[in-house]
Amino acid sequence: MDTVTDALLQARARVVHDLAACGLDTAGCVSAVDEALSARRWWADEWPDGAPFLTCLVAQDVQEALLDAAGRWPLCRVDHEADDDHGAHEHELRVSPDLGEDPHWVCEVVGVVVARVGELTGP
Ligand SMILES: [Zn+2]
Repeated sequence: MDTVTDALLQARARVVHDLAACGLDTAGCVSAVDEALSARRWWADEWPDGAPFLTCLVAQDVQEALLDAAGRWPLCRVDHEADDDHGAHEHELRVSPDLGEDPHWVCEVVGVVVARVGELTGP
């Protein structure tokens, strides 16, 4: 198996895992993942050195795609209740870094790393 295909399969597994952790592993959401993967397949074929970044990019693509279709994903599960200054309103986790080989989900409100992408647990 070539590097790009391998990286795409890994990205799919990690993102689908995190959708499932949020109860969003529905047909519609998983097809959003597959759409992101086919768009990124073209990108990665043009730039094979970008293969290590595919999980990071696909996670952000899916996050954007779901915003209209299913809402914010993944919702922050950090307990902010003792932290009223920052506001406890519903917000999503962000992928950090924007372009990296080992992306993590981060709550930007309190600056906490929640999990690696692909290792979210249920809320
Ligand atoms: Zn948060």
